[in-house]
Amino acid sequence: MASLSLKNLNKIYDNNVQAVFDFNIDINDGELIVLVGPSGCGKSTTLRMVAGLEDISSGTLIIDGKDVTKMPPKDRDIAMVFQNYALYAHMTVYENMAFSLTLLHENPNVIHEKVMAAAEILGLTDQLNKKPKQLSGGQRQRVAMGRAIVRTPKVFLFDEPLSNLDAKLRGATRREILLLHKRLGATMLYVTHDQTEALTLADRIVCMSMGYVQQIGTPLELYDTPANVFVASFIGLPPMNFFDATVCGGKLLLDGGASVSLSDEEAKLLSSYDGKMITLGVRPENITIGDDVKVKVNNCENLGQTTLVHGTMNGHKITAKLREWCNYKHGEEITVSFNRKHFFDKETTNAIR
Ligand code: ADP
Repeated sequence: MASLSLKNLNKIYDNNVQAVFDFNIDINDGELIVLVGPSGCGKSTTLRMVAGLEDISSGTLIIDGKDVTKMPPKDRDIAMVFQNYALYAHMTVYENMAFSLTLLHENPNVIHEKVMAAAEILGLTDQLNKKPKQLSGGQRQRVAMGRAIVRTPKVFLFDEPLSNLDAKLRGATRREILLLHKRLGATMLYVTHDQTEALTLADRIVCMSMGYVQQIGTPLELYDTPANVFVASFIGLPPMNFFDATVCGGKLLLDGGASVSLSDEEAKLLSSYDGKMITLGVRPENITIGDDVKVKVNNCENLGQTTLVHGTMNGHKITAKLREWCNYKHGEEITVSFNRKHFFDKETTNAIR
């Protein structure tokens, strides 16, 4: 296994589209890093530069202390698992898993040992003689992972490996990948557009937008202290609510007249913004029935333990996730409080800290 350093990586495609701008991260041996962001933000390009499938326009890639920036993919000792599995249809599961080692003219006994060990880890021992088309989507994904495992690569790369699976299987396979990561202690770089996958899998998340890294941190750091409005809106489901608010002494005046009280600590944090407009962010789960602002209910969605209450606050949309079963009627008015608030500079969109 290996550590990984991406230093000032840039990617400009032949058509002059710059897909990645100045990407920097040091990845520790055994870390599972998830690159997350909306479609087109440069996640796959970054992963493909690490794999060697795309040239690096500028910058340096170091694997285990060695500069591999210009090294061909086959010499980088990296295994990649794709979303479409990329299995050979005419080969059995066993042959698919053994294939890369066969190409390397590995000793047949060693190949057999490695394939059987990987099959055992992945629960594929009974499927080894089947062809991919006889397997479920989840099993195919496991074969794709098995193919990576047998090579004992320095780094595992995953490109949206769960997107072709249905929701239930996605959850189960996600947990398998987590167990696999623990068991192998492998360095993994994992790309997804799904914030749930990022939160549940990552040791650290890299959140990207439009080719730029927005924040790197643990799942809790990105959830609890997002660096800017983009990260705050992308991480967390349902997404954070945002409102324009003017700082006025110990209070925030919201557009439309409602006011929200601030704790001493919050007022101190915002003291240099007195009289100015900021962006207030409130996660749906940080809203409770209280006595601060009135919300006119549009509809309720009961999820069992919680209820999503969708409504408007002075004409602005707001979603609250209340920890009880509620049946508010359309047009009903409730009063809520914000338990945890996030503040962002209106100009830069950066968090006010
Ligand atoms: P993501 O994986 O986050 O969806 P990509 O890395 O695939 O994003 O793409 C990032 C940007 O680079 C997009 O604007 C995309 O259109 C562009 N892009 C991707 N591949 C190519 C290519 N081969 N040639 C030109 N532009 C590309």
